[in-house]
Amino acid sequence: MRLSRYFLPVLKETPKEAEIISHQLMLRAGLIRQESAGIYAWLPLGLRVLNKVNTIIREEQNRSGAVELLMPTIQSADLWRESGRYDAYGKEMLRIRDRHERDMLFGPTNEEMITGIFRTYAKSYRDLPLNLYHIQWKFRDEVRPRFGVMRSREFLMKDAYSFDLSKEAARHSYNKMFVAYLRTFARFGLKAIPMRADTGPIGGDLSHEFIILAETGESEVFCHKDYLAFPVPSSDTDFDDVANLQATVDRWTSLYAATSEMHDPGAYDALTADARVSARGIEVGHIFYFGTKYSEPMKATVQGPDGKPVTVHMGSYGIGPTRVVAALIEASHDKDGIVWPVSVAPFEVALVNLKPGDADTDRVVDDLEQRLEAAGIEVLVDDRDDRPGAKFASMDLIGVPYQLIVGPKGVKAGEVEIKSRRDGVRRTLAPDDAVAALAAEVIAGRKLA
Ligand code: ATP
Ligand code: MG
Repeated sequence: MRLSRYFLPVLKETPKEAEIISHQLMLRAGLIRQESAGIYAWLPLGLRVLNKVNTIIREEQNRSGAVELLMPTIQSADLWRESGRYDAYGKEMLRIRDRHERDMLFGPTNEEMITGIFRTYAKSYRDLPLNLYHIQWKFRDEVRPRFGVMRSREFLMKDAYSFDLSKEAARHSYNKMFVAYLRTFARFGLKAIPMRADTGPIGGDLSHEFIILAETGESEVFCHKDYLAFPVPSSDTDFDDVANLQATVDRWTSLYAATSEMHDPGAYDALTADARVSARGIEVGHIFYFGTKYSEPMKATVQGPDGKPVTVHMGSYGIGPTRVVAALIEASHDKDGIVWPVSVAPFEVALVNLKPGDADTDRVVDDLEQRLEAAGIEVLVDDRDDRPGAKFASMDLIGVPYQLIVGPKGVKAGEVEIKSRRDGVRRTLAPDDAVAALAAEVIAGRKLA
């Protein structure tokens, strides 16, 4: 991609309305634009990151056995009347009336709709277990939308819903999502810690929030330090191995970890002083077993092995991809801008032409662009007629992991320079070696850490 033909509206000044660093950087780097309070347009660079986040989420949902579908954003109020939530949901629900005076709503979540779909088609215990998910826009009319896409009114959610014959089977479905989430967040380069969450009237221990530690997090969290070094389950995890999955979940829930709502100061104080981590956190995911809360009123039953109807046990599992993009920036930035992990970077290499119009420099840049693209690397060529300093500043700001810098002096000497965004380390190499080095490092960087 050539920057001269791209759409990258970078801002010089930090917009005043943005309080936290991720919001400031997302506006400055041209990732998003506010359309109304808590409602954002995703500009081209931001969309590239969001798409990568969604791809990783999909790959890990699919790996765990979940099946993707797509439900609409607009839902009928009648479904919500069946579960009793139409009145209970309150002001966060955006209610709409169509031309036939029918009550509709912009979905804040999809338990009712998925239960409606399930009960239409699933008839037998042989149809279970089943986990259906989609990645779709949600609307919640938050009282105080803030921090950009971190707490917005319209936001993207991956929401999965599991259906099982019994509570025991539902626990395995829960464990599958638990492990899928550990892998998903690790692939973003994030350390997300599962923390016990409130189960309300359902009770039990099957609700966890996945929390990223960050100074600007809205929740106060407490956990054992060892979680930060726990190894993440590998890509060859067998999701049908019930005992092994349970062992992984047991391990990841064995130490203290709680948000302020669930905090038990006695248990926390019992940890040795050096094991205590008290910090702020961002909730990026939430998984929840809720039994027959919706299947009971909505009559979602299947025929059990003995021929009798069984009300299915359900769980729901959410990740907010748009919030994840902001959380990634909170977790990875420096004074010059964003520092993307390779796995979600909008481009992998920024190819900086220091002298567009200089025939020799242009030739080397064109050649490098073609060869990197042939190696499957995503390249953004800065071919604008601008000062080198301005180019470096904008490439630093947008956080592309590698800058490949080409100028007339180097070209004469048969050299180009690679700058790694994360540590600022620079290397001077022959163009051939630069392509080989970048291809190897980018491909390694895309993989799970
Ligand atoms: P919060 O406690 O932060 O308000 P929630 O508990 O209401 O979130 P869930 O219903 O558990 O949210 O939604 C699942 C996921 O959707 C959350 O973990 C988060 O990643 C994302 N999410 C929820 N609300 C928002 C929002 N207003 N803006 C952006 N993402 C959101
Ligand atoms: Mg939640």
